Amino acid sequence: MPARHSWEIPMLVLVVVLTVFAYLIALLLLATGNFDQYVLAFAAAPLLLWFGRGINYASQRVNGVKMSPTQFPEGYQQVADAAARFGMAKVPDAYVVLGNGQINAFASGHGFRRYVVVYSDLFEIGGAAREPDALAFIIGHEVGHIAAGHTSYWRQLGMFLVPFLPIIGSSLIRAQEYTADNHGFCHRHTGAPGAMGTLAAGKYMNRLVGFDEMADRAPAEKGFFVWMVNALSSHPVLTWRMWALRDRSRHGKLFMRPERPNGAAAPMGGYPSSYGQVPANPPKSVV
Ligand SMILES: [Zn+2]
Repeated sequence: MPARHSWEIPMLVLVVVLTVFAYLIALLLLATGNFDQYVLAFAAAPLLLWFGRGINYASQRVNGVKMSPTQFPEGYQQVADAAARFGMAKVPDAYVVLGNGQINAFASGHGFRRYVVVYSDLFEIGGAAREPDALAFIIGHEVGHIAAGHTSYWRQLGMFLVPFLPIIGSSLIRAQEYTADNHGFCHRHTGAPGAMGTLAAGKYMNRLVGFDEMADRAPAEKGFFVWMVNALSSHPVLTWRMWALRDRSRHGKLFMRPERPNGAAAPMGGYPSSYGQVPANPPKSVV
């Protein structure tokens, strides 16, 4: 089974404790007659979250193109395969929605139902003529969020304070993203460079992104502001994320940039790729 990032559970415990604490304070303020809008909103968090999740799921059910054995069957098969690989009892629903140029995908749920949504501009990277491995990695990543419990109502309620917890909140989300990347890697490791290339340069130039060359910049780019950009980000910064997908011997870096073993310089011709392939250099032609 894919590894859960080592910082995920400790960070989750911290965030849940802070959220429960804040919730109790909100209830206390309400009881003493404070009807500030933030206090009201926070006290209503269980209801607001339930409502938001219901609306989100319904939007996919009425507007999304639902993957099935006859509609985007490759995508449907990937979702089913990933669910089986992660030992899930039920295959989540999966939808393609209009991306309008945005490269995005997410997983969520409502009640006992779980689903994956892939924006059309990201889904386009799949298909036999393009990068089916990259799409398989993405779908593995999203189904992984479900398998790892990130989409549960109670989990999300316990993390309600995340948007109000700079650095602590985003760090928990980053740990979850590394966990999901481990699932994507487990499902289709050969898709990691294509998936990261798509996130870096889009669906047309993904094959031109030198995965190793970009990952090598993770230890090279230094400084306070680099630290800050990562610390505030919901996803690990791309260079670090690529580094973690290449170096499978340790968990992805949450706070401090990755370091080369013994501070050594990058070997001439790059690192041996863990994918059994020559890194994307020279670039493959774009079809
Ligand atoms: Zn994710």
